Amino acid sequence: MELRIAHLYARFLNIYGDRGNIIALTQRAKWRNIDVTVSPIGLEQEADPEYFDLYFIGGGQDKQQQIIAQDLVKRAKQLKTAVDNGAAFLTICGGYQLLGHYYKPHEGEELKGISLIDAYTVAGNRRMIGNVMIKRSDGSTLVGFENHSGKTYLGKDVQPLGKVVVGNGNNGEDGAEGAQSGKVYGTYLHGSLLPKNPQFCDLLISQALSRRYSDVKLTPLDDALEIQAHKRALTLPA
Ligand code: GLN
Repeated sequence: MELRIAHLYARFLNIYGDRGNIIALTQRAKWRNIDVTVSPIGLEQEADPEYFDLYFIGGGQDKQQQIIAQDLVKRAKQLKTAVDNGAAFLTICGGYQLLGHYYKPHEGEELKGISLIDAYTVAGNRRMIGNVMIKRSDGSTLVGFENHSGKTYLGKDVQPLGKVVVGNGNNGEDGAEGAQSGKVYGTYLHGSLLPKNPQFCDLLISQALSRRYSDVKLTPLDDALEIQAHKRALTLPA
């Protein structure tokens, strides 16, 4: 099997170490003898909606978001086609914010999003920084680190990625963190997210591969180290 990953705006949305998610996805696929191609997609660079199985967008400061926002909007139709074709998306913080309808930063124009997630974001008057732990609807936990001033509010039909147990999450008000719509995921969890959350990494790999392969079953890995790191992170204060 082959996993084809598009890393959107890798040169711009890269300040919070989210490329660790690309490393985790790649390594956990390779450990299962799955071939992996990672294609950095820059401004105005083609990304064939029929080709990629998984799209990744990391986080970034307002300035970098302003640089890429228009380019992302130009891709909206193609990315919607990719979703309809069964591609998975993982978007972190600034990338997540632009998957919604808009992001209104402190300064400058409101940035139009691509509405793959029914949500909107407005800059708050404090930065939400610290460790985060959330509980998903299946009872599993995700751990990470947040650093954002943006407050994201979900539409009525969007599920959060999880409920906040430690930290702020989407906005520090409604107890929701992140968003999920089908195979499209957004979250504020940096860290990076996937190395300490191996089961979520594997879910993404499976969902991405299921675009082109049927009955995808990933062989279990020895996750002792990852689980140890996850458990340690569960004890961290906000
Ligand atoms: N610039 C956005 C904010 O401050 C996103 C930050 C990020 O990607 N960590 O909310």
